[in-house]
Amino acid sequence: MQLASQSGEADQRQISPKISAALIDSLFDTQGPVHVGIFFLAVAASLTALRTDENLIWACVGLLLMAGAIRAFDLQRYQARKASLTAEEAERWKKRYQIGAMIQAAAIGIWGAVTMLSSDDAVAHMICLSVITGVVSGGAGRAYGRQWIFQLQAAIAFGPTVIALALRGTPYYLAMSIITAAFLVVVMQMSANLHRIFLRALLAREREAALAGQFDTALNNMPHGLCMFRGDGELAVMNHRFCEMMDLSEDLVQRGANAADIIAGCVSAGSISAASGQMILAEIENSQARDIVTADPDLTRNRSLSWTFQPMAGGGAVVLLEDITERRTSEAKISHLARYDELTDLPNRVNFRDEIGHLLSAQQGAEQLSALLFIDLDQFKQVNDTLGHPCGDQLLCAVAGRLREMLRPEDFVARFGGDEFVVFQQNIHSPDDAAGLARRIVDRLSERYKIDNHLVEIGASVGIAMTSHGVSADTLLKNADMALYRAKADGRGTFCFFREEMAQVVESRRILELDLRKALANEEFELFFQPLVNLKSGRISTCEALLRWNHPVRGTVSPTDIIPIAEDMGLIVDLGRWILRKACMECMKWPEGVSVAVNFSPQQFHQRDVLSEVRYALEVSGLPANRLEIEITESSLLRNTQLTHDVLSQLHSLGVRISLDDFGTGYSSLSYLHNFPLQKVKIDRSFLEGIDSDRPLTLLRGVARLSADLGMSVAVEGIETNEQLELISADGAVTEAQGYLFSPPVPAVRVRQLLNASHGRRPPDDQIVAVSSRSIA
Ligand code: C2E
Ligand code: MG
Ligand code: MG
Repeated sequence: MQLASQSGEADQRQISPKISAALIDSLFDTQGPVHVGIFFLAVAASLTALRTDENLIWACVGLLLMAGAIRAFDLQRYQARKASLTAEEAERWKKRYQIGAMIQAAAIGIWGAVTMLSSDDAVAHMICLSVITGVVSGGAGRAYGRQWIFQLQAAIAFGPTVIALALRGTPYYLAMSIITAAFLVVVMQMSANLHRIFLRALLAREREAALAGQFDTALNNMPHGLCMFRGDGELAVMNHRFCEMMDLSEDLVQRGANAADIIAGCVSAGSISAASGQMILAEIENSQARDIVTADPDLTRNRSLSWTFQPMAGGGAVVLLEDITERRTSEAKISHLARYDELTDLPNRVNFRDEIGHLLSAQQGAEQLSALLFIDLDQFKQVNDTLGHPCGDQLLCAVAGRLREMLRPEDFVARFGGDEFVVFQQNIHSPDDAAGLARRIVDRLSERYKIDNHLVEIGASVGIAMTSHGVSADTLLKNADMALYRAKADGRGTFCFFREEMAQVVESRRILELDLRKALANEEFELFFQPLVNLKSGRISTCEALLRWNHPVRGTVSPTDIIPIAEDMGLIVDLGRWILRKACMECMKWPEGVSVAVNFSPQQFHQRDVLSEVRYALEVSGLPANRLEIEITESSLLRNTQLTHDVLSQLHSLGVRISLDDFGTGYSSLSYLHNFPLQKVKIDRSFLEGIDSDRPLTLLRGVARLSADLGMSVAVEGIETNEQLELISADGAVTEAQGYLFSPPVPAVRVRQLLNASHGRRPPDDQIVAVSSRSIA
């Protein structure tokens, strides 16, 4: 009982307005039994009145009829209105029901008590007791919706009869009273149980409905299409998304279609092809977990659909449908980006390597000859620097276009980044075919391009490697690259086949690189100095610092071999820093009027902190800036002209002098002399060739005069003979001369002796001054 009432309370707490309305409804729901009850009560009461002829009982008949009429009337009115009742109105109706029920119960109670007490007629007593018992038990089945109403009703209807039975005092009546009371308790408990069962059923129904609602919401809001088919193929569930994706009409779903109907519907709506439809239907019937993707290129759409089939425990299958077109497209885009060059849309390095790898392994064993051509554009960097990157990009696209046009369908072209392109020429007869293609490529790529109203000319160099038995893609690429290096060294605009000895050259360069690193770490380098003589005073005005490397095995290595490699390796910055500081420190040991000239390679000159490097070297050595001369070549001026100009101006304002080395060998342009803050021009020794004839001499003198007129001092390099010296110094435009005639580059100790001799200082006795035939004053 305790338990029941506890769970009853718990249930009451969960009662929603809907359930509450259902409970109220249940009270009014049983119209028939109520009417029958009213009728039989009136009949029974009349029988007891007839039998006993008691007026009081007749009065009870009237009371019962009146109470019954009120209830019947209420029931009738409720039925007419129940459809439009609000919650408050329903609550009011509940109260009316309670009042009506109580009045009726009270009438019954009064009739029972009056019948029991006012007469001794056993038949009347029997009629009364059995009818009240029947009415109360009937009520238990009817009024379970409101438990306490029934309990109160039963107590009011039965209580007076129980009491009246007890009051009659005889043992039998007392026993009857007790039995009736016990019956009353049992009936009340029965009603409580019924109430609980009813309430639970209502709650379960409500929960189920809520669950079904949530399931429905989830089903129709999921991004996937979903269908569920029963074991016999009948459609159990389908969400809106599925209908939408397949363009299905809802009524196909409504009329209980099966899997075949649904798939046929999809096909006739043009959402999937007939072949896909058959495959899907087979999978549904197959009842095995599987994923398939259909590409349904119908007339209007090109979709990738992912279908997932999941068999269900009791037969049948769940079909999940997802449109993966967008995902597929972006996956394809990403993989395209990973394998193709974005600018030219040619395959990239990774792609090319893979493809060549496959082609080579397919060719394995077959007597097929192919060639790999490594192409590098000449002067592309200049185009990029002068016309800007957008033009450079357009140029690369134009190059890619020309290459594409020239190749056969079976050939393969890729861009390796920068200005490097690679071609794989398949199935050729001999190396001549590769040479022919290389020549055509060089010619075609060297033809003019029109880029944004600019006419651009570039060149191309090609390195060729032929396939051989078992060669890998990497080796082939490496070999072609070596051949390209050679082609460029041979003067660009040409092609070169790979030969075995190239590999040796590369290997020896690799070893040289290793040695160079070690040399810098171990300070194996030395500076030699070569004097520049002032032609007026006959004295040494400047000494040029020249790098020497005395290698234990290689012997003395020329700076022309060291510098390009150090530049390639990026070692030039560290090496240059060492040279600069060493040269400045050495100069401090020389007479005051003598300067030191230091060669700067283009790369070193364009490093970011060149200015602070120079400042620092001057600071640590204590050398005044005006005793430092920096020699740059024309190629330094070519690069990034604005930056170059700024750096030169800043160096100039520091007090450092700038001289233009090897003048006349590069892309000589007289405009350099005018545009950059240069203080000295060093005319290259090549100008001395054939100087004894008219034209070269006139040329040299012309350049010297022009430079002098522009306010620069003029030095001539490589004077080896007295005749050369006389010819260049005749018209007074040349101010300085440098060459073996005066002294070759000599170690620091020697140059100090030369300087002491030149500047009239007495060298220590143990030192012998070695000066060339032309003595230095
Ligand atoms: P450069 O700056 O034009 O130096 C002059 C080169 O001409 C030196 O060669 C020198 O030995 C050589 N020479 C001088 N007088 C005569 C002569 O009368 N006849 C002949 N045939 N040659 C003469 P070296 O020392 O082999 O240097 C070659 C080049 O290497 C230098 O040309 C310079 O461009 C570069 N270099 C040398 N040292 C350095 C350095 O410390 N840093 C940088 N960046 N480059 C350097
Ligand atoms: Mg020099
Ligand atoms: Mg020079």
